[in-house]
Amino acid sequence: MNPHEALSEIATLLERERSSRYKSKAFRAAADAIAGLDDEQLRDGAALRRRKGIGDSTFAVIQEALAGEVPAYLVALRERAGVQRASELRSRLRGDLHSHSDWSDGLTSIELMVAAARALGHEYLALTDHSPRLRVANGLSPERLRAQLEIVPTMSGDGFTLLSGIEVDILDDGALDQEPDLLDELDVVVASAHSKLRMERGPMTRRLVAAASNPHVDVLGHVTGRLVEGSRGTRPPSTFDPKPVFEACAAHGVAVEINSRPERQDPPDELITLALELGCLFSIDSDAHAPGQLSLLDYGAERVERLGVPPQRIVTTWPLDELRAWTRRTRDPAG
Ligand SMILES: [Zn+2]
Ligand SMILES: [Zn+2]
Repeated sequence: MNPHEALSEIATLLERERSSRYKSKAFRAAADAIAGLDDEQLRDGAALRRRKGIGDSTFAVIQEALAGEVPAYLVALRERAGVQRASELRSRLRGDLHSHSDWSDGLTSIELMVAAARALGHEYLALTDHSPRLRVANGLSPERLRAQLEIVPTMSGDGFTLLSGIEVDILDDGALDQEPDLLDELDVVVASAHSKLRMERGPMTRRLVAAASNPHVDVLGHVTGRLVEGSRGTRPPSTFDPKPVFEACAAHGVAVEINSRPERQDPPDELITLALELGCLFSIDSDAHAPGQLSLLDYGAERVERLGVPPQRIVTTWPLDELRAWTRRTRDPAG
């Protein structure tokens, strides 16, 4: 087995099971450290051990891979990941509208996110780093977002498109945390609430309705904000009246996000059913903060298939030109 591939696959599987980012980072650093070395250089154990980024576990993985074995560490991870049968719906998903890079709080560079999206067979991925108010997530100022917009178009090609985007914070009054002119330039705007999630029902409902009615918004992200498992603990869903919120989404063509992260599973099943009845569109997103998390889409697709959402209601089953026509619906005066 190729040692570089073994290290990268381990990082990817660690990310998918959302273990400590330091672990995944160590394997990515080791993969970087041996990039470009030939087998002979790798077999020089003493020199390899002195290399920055190579520790005990990564050294062992390299040795086992060089010996032609699948490293034990990787075998265990593959077993834990299980052989998952992809849902029929998963095979119809063409891309993902919510992901993060190390420009905000993601683990890796845009390049590694794009490489992983291509490897999954995605036709497109929207890069949606956070907006300025999320300081803990290193949210992008207008200047940094403009700098990112210079880079994004250079990442497309060979049947893959990196869409520009943002996950913009919904402020307490429902306004958005980024300059409107800048939002206008983006392919995809995901709007999500990240603070004051315990607002009272009335103001919270008005806040979400305002966001869903904002002409810049394409996707309403993790609408209830709940956390159902995982290292961050649990959090109940926000209290709001879902009917007017989903009615606003349906009226303005805003897609309700199906957030695929296992700790979110947001919205809950009954709200997906309600949004379906009210005529909403959906976007099944990974909200990946690391390359290996792009495959979390499997979980969202499985859930949506079980709930009987028709594929044509899911914008991420659409071909890219249709998707682009949809995200431009409010930006084109003729449309
Ligand atoms: Zn978010
Ligand atoms: Zn996000």
